[in-house]
Amino acid sequence: MAKKTVRDVELKGKKVLVRVDFNVPLKDGEISDENRIVQALPTIKYILEQGGRAILFSHLGRIKEAKDLEKNSLSVVAKRLSELLNQEVKFIPETRGKKLEEAVSALNNGEILMFENTRFEDLDGKKESKNDPELGKYWASLGDVFVNDAFGTAHREHASNVGVASNIKETVAGFLLEKEINFIGGALENPERPFVAILGGAKVSDKIEVIKNLLKVADRVLIGGGMAYTFFKAMGYEIGTSLLEAYKVDLAKELLELSKGKICLGDDIVTGKGFDPETEKNVRTVDQIPADEMGMDIGPRTAEKFDSIIKDAKTVVWNGPLGVFEFPRFADGTRHIAQSLVEIKDQATTIIGGGDSAAAVIQFGLEDGFTHISTGGGASLEYLEGKLLPGIECVDNK
Ligand code: ADP
Ligand code: MG
Repeated sequence: MAKKTVRDVELKGKKVLVRVDFNVPLKDGEISDENRIVQALPTIKYILEQGGRAILFSHLGRIKEAKDLEKNSLSVVAKRLSELLNQEVKFIPETRGKKLEEAVSALNNGEILMFENTRFEDLDGKKESKNDPELGKYWASLGDVFVNDAFGTAHREHASNVGVASNIKETVAGFLLEKEINFIGGALENPERPFVAILGGAKVSDKIEVIKNLLKVADRVLIGGGMAYTFFKAMGYEIGTSLLEAYKVDLAKELLELSKGKICLGDDIVTGKGFDPETEKNVRTVDQIPADEMGMDIGPRTAEKFDSIIKDAKTVVWNGPLGVFEFPRFADGTRHIAQSLVEIKDQATTIIGGGDSAAAVIQFGLEDGFTHISTGGGASLEYLEGKLLPGIECVDNK
């Protein structure tokens, strides 16, 4: 179902509530990666240009006890945002009350304020994270229209997304949320074919629902990473000391049978003698994995085999590194496949979901070579599982 976006509402003179994802990493009180702020700029600028009065809010970190408050204040983010926008961003160090309400009333068209970390409300009974009905209603009362642009929390039903949406007349998606819906949602609902899914990462148990859902919609599912070994075991191979989830072997067997040739596993792997960046590296065919070695990456023949499938794809969704890419000598498989996707960029829609997968392509310096890199780790995973995300569901349909 198509969702309304910020383009579909009148913003001029309106008090526009904007839920952004400013959950940035902080080191010694400084922002160590401002990507999330930069990513939110198009939506914010658009609202201000249209003459909206922007009221921004976000969570930051986790708040369990009083000592978490100071180090998770959004004030440092407001300051940085102000620099990036080259415009004053008034910061209100409260999540409710008179000071906030007066600041909202004082806003002029094209002006912006931001209030304190929504999770400060978690200190007293997890009001934000449990979507306390009174809290969502209160925040909604501060504005005329709600723009949700926080994909990173779209898999959560919080007061600052669903709570606000259920108490306000209009809820629309910001540009960032729109992009995620168009690319991930689009691939799952109506992909151009052939649609190839590439799955890796550490564990089968983390990705069962993703595998099952992508088996439903994709034409081919290529499996690498740590979870491949449970599949190799299910095929009857000895896998040495590779990562094994013994209790998932039956499930892997079942998926292999159900998938009728859709699943593609490799023929060779790169092994180490231990989980160690300096360990001796060997290429082994999957039927000859020594008892004292563990699979750390896909092998060169597997990379070629995957390439031959990828090269014709029109849609690719990739979730999960194909090897232990954090260790340089076991990063080749992941880099190779990243490169293969870069090569088909002009003919295919290529989408990367998953926090570590995104980190891997950024580590390789290839981040500009894909159609879309999802900004939400957990949210993109649940989206790929085929779940309805509350933060998307609460946006008005067109
Ligand atoms: P994402 O965050 O992209 O969804 P995951 O969290 O599922 O990905 O998996 C990422 C992790 O999987 C990485 O830390 C990587 O080292 C690990 N991994 C990949 N291949 C292997 C392997 N063969 N053995 C053990 N761990 C692996
Ligand atoms: Mg991960």
